[in-house]
Amino acid sequence: LMAEDCPPLPATLNFSVCGLGDTSYADFNQCAANIDARLDALGATRVADLVKCDLDYDDEFAAWKTAVFASEPFVTAAATPAAPAPQSETAPAFDKNHPFMASLLSCDRLSDPNSAKCVNHIELSLAGGGADLDYAAGDALGVWPTNCPDDVQAILTATGLTGRETVTLKSGPARLQAALSTKLDIATVTPTTLEVLEMDRPFEDAQILDLLATKGPVEAHILAAALRPLQPRLYSISSSPKAHPGEVHLTVGEVLYDLADRTRKGVASTHLGARLPAGGMLGVYVQKSAHFHPPADDTKPLIMIGPGTGIAPFRAFLEEREARGATGKNWLFFGDQHAALDYLYRDQIDAWHAGGLLTNLSLAWSRDGTEKIYVQTLLEQNAAEVFAWLQEGAAIYICGDATRMASDVEAALLRIIAQGLDADTAAAQTYLDTLASQHRYQRDVY
Ligand code: NAP
Repeated sequence: LMAEDCPPLPATLNFSVCGLGDTSYADFNQCAANIDARLDALGATRVADLVKCDLDYDDEFAAWKTAVFASEPFVTAAATPAAPAPQSETAPAFDKNHPFMASLLSCDRLSDPNSAKCVNHIELSLAGGGADLDYAAGDALGVWPTNCPDDVQAILTATGLTGRETVTLKSGPARLQAALSTKLDIATVTPTTLEVLEMDRPFEDAQILDLLATKGPVEAHILAAALRPLQPRLYSISSSPKAHPGEVHLTVGEVLYDLADRTRKGVASTHLGARLPAGGMLGVYVQKSAHFHPPADDTKPLIMIGPGTGIAPFRAFLEEREARGATGKNWLFFGDQHAALDYLYRDQIDAWHAGGLLTNLSLAWSRDGTEKIYVQTLLEQNAAEVFAWLQEGAAIYICGDATRMASDVEAALLRIIAQGLDADTAAAQTYLDTLASQHRYQRDVY
């Protein structure tokens, strides 16, 4: 579409663009705007205006849908017998806006206290949730977090508010204290924040408290208008429901870093890891994954690459393969900084390896030696065997860091495939694309 030599589109091609974006990014919904402008410039017919949705998209999406459904071409098309009637689906009892209240069974630190990272194993009870909470290995869990009470108090102190003020949110009136705790994102600065507070961003990655520190008193309704709604966080589920009926497990690294003289805390990761007491309740819902599941054919080999918290879905996969009695070979590539401090699920993984469920186990400890050993180092050291597994029909999955690890692992895979095929990178890319189209190459990266 964007190519300079893209041919014109017929005016009979009707379109309307609904963009899903996030106002905390500078180029809010730029992709949707570009596509909308391009379709128009190429001669297609816009039947309803572009709508740019923010994270909290329900109202904007509903308005866009109404406008599209009311447009003349849509009404005409829907009236023709060829257009199949939309399937009516029963809405699940629990979803993003109607979460199930799960209770925390336990939270145990997986990484050693001397590790640079605090990674927790979280177990939640889904008892009483019924079939609508049925999940499969590979699905994610949406979690509604609660903001840190110290941060809420710091905001009230900085603005000179008590928390007893009433503010009006989309969902209706609420006490400011409650709104700041559970309804509003009290960290992220968006363009709306700067506009409403009439301030400039003091530094990159500045948070709301950094702005309020110099602002002085703020009225409650202004504060509420400056903050966007709190959003749920999605975590890859790290348990198989067959191994843990009625429970769901997560593997969560606590986000903690210092910036501008203040420790910043990840909202959900520290709520789960440090603030929610055993028995405490938490709103959750299951976010189904389209294809990121263990192979349906239990005889097929499976290669899993998941350093750091990327291990999460693969613990679920291995529990699932074990519970199903799957005979296919399994190969796990895991790693982190130090073997002694960061070997998450060590006992379970070692037992799987000793017992034969894990045919191969490749562990990459990046800071134990003089040279960095990464998962792709071990992939390349085992290139011939990795390629042989692929030729035998293996599925290969990656989970974890999107920006660095996943692209470096993919580059290594392309080299391994090119070597195996004795061909160039283009041929390797075609091979990998074919695996992807068969859902045998999949990534859950964040
Ligand atoms: P992680 O930061 O991915 O670290 C796990 C292991 O991967 C470490 O041994 C790390 O080594 C290694 N690693 C670093 N760069 C790599 C690369 N290019 N290729 C392969 N391995 C690499 O795992 P985590 O601490 O569990 O963090 C996962 C989460 O943190 C994800 O959400 C991730 O997106 C996020 N994260 C992102 C960044 C980033 O800059 N994009 C940085 C940290 C964390 P070394 O640390 O010794 O290099």
